[in-house]
This record gives sequence, C-alpha cells and structure tokens, in this order.
Amino acid sequence: MRLKVTEVFFSIQGEACFSGWPTVFVRLTGCPLRCQYCDTAYAFTGGEWRSFEDIETEVRRYGTRYVCVTGGEPLAQPRCAALLTALCDAGFDVSLETSGAIDIAGVPITPAALAGLIAIVEKGTISSTVAKDVFAKMYETGRSASDIVAADGLAQISDTSSLEPIVRRIVDANPDIIAEIKAGKDRKFQFLVGQVMKETKGKGDPKIVTDLMKAAIG
Ligand code: SF4
Repeated sequence: MRLKVTEVFFSIQGEACFSGWPTVFVRLTGCPLRCQYCDTAYAFTGGEWRSFEDIETEVRRYGTRYVCVTGGEPLAQPRCAALLTALCDAGFDVSLETSGAIDIAGVPITPAALAGLIAIVEKGTISSTVAKDVFAKMYETGRSASDIVAADGLAQISDTSSLEPIVRRIVDANPDIIAEIKAGKDRKFQFLVGQVMKETKGKGDPKIVTDLMKAAIG
C-alpha cells in the first residue's frame, strides 16, 4: 500500500501528554480545508507516493519509537488508518494529528478515549512514562486507559512506605556514586533516581522519589 508523503522529519513532540518525546513526524500530503492561519499550506499538494515499507524504513533510521502522523490533514488519505496500524504492528508508539474535520471511525482510539488517558496523567494516577505504554495498549485492544491501568496494576506508586525501602536499597548499593554526589557531581543524582524508577517499572512518583532520595543522601 502507498500514501502520498510530503516529508518525514525528526523533532521534539510539542503536543498533549507526548510533549518532549523525540518523535519522527510523517507529514501526509493533502487537506480539504483552507484555514487562514494554516502554516503547512505546502502540504496541500505535491509530495511523493511512498510504500508503507519505505515509510517504516525511514522512520526506523531515526532510532526513536515515537511516531506522529500529521498533515495537512492526514485522514484526507483513506489509507492513513492502515498506516497507523502498520506502524503500531512494527513496534512504534504512534500518535495522529488531525484537524477533527474528518470522521475518525477508522482510527482505533477516539478523542474521548484519549481524553481519558490525558485525565489520568494529569491526576497523577500514572506517569507520562507509563502513559505511552497504556496508549499503545489502547490502540491494540480498544480498551479504555483506566481499564488497562486497573487490570495491569500500572497506577503510580506515591506512598512513601513502598518507595522508601527501594530508595534505601539503591543508596546502599551505590556508595561510590553517593560520594561523588556529595563531592558536587549533581548529575549522578538523576542516575540514582533513574534506578528507583527502573525498579518500580516507571511507576514511582518522580517527585516523591526525588524527595526521598535527597533525604536518604542527606
Ligand atoms: S486543517 Fe491544518 S493543514 Fe488543513 S488548512 Fe487547516 S491548519 Fe492547514
């Protein structure tokens, strides 16, 4: 299958709960609208017919798992939903930027379902790290974010009684790094926080983990 593509480029995502993630953007050609404020009019026409395999190969070159299919209006090309599925099947975390003017019935995640995911991130129920895995499962299964979080036990760990022993274990296991931090090498602090997040499979509340780590190092 092929789609008309204006460009494929690497940048930092600036939208929604995916903000800050290194992302490959696939800009599909075409848009039936003509918004006066449009800053991508160059994507209305032109572009190049490219196979799904060709698009996937270029996306993979950038070495990130995050892909955003954008436009123009990406859903103006009916095969867009199939491209989203193909990229997900290839192991990427895929998002779609659409104007909202075209029916998204062919897209597995509805705006309401996505709003549900954003709401539980903003409430602090899950971290943005865990959110990307939840998003992938929503796409694969059509289940809601809250269902997936409950069934898979993905809720953020915020109680200090669960986190304190892990922090203590990491501190005790890294005396050399503690000495370096005390000597002023602040960057090593984030390494230790990262170790706790790794042990909690990304579920530790980063702020609480940071506070506990500061207290443990003294
Ligand atoms: S929907 Fe987007 S791409 Fe299309 S005209 Fe409006 S701003 Fe431009």
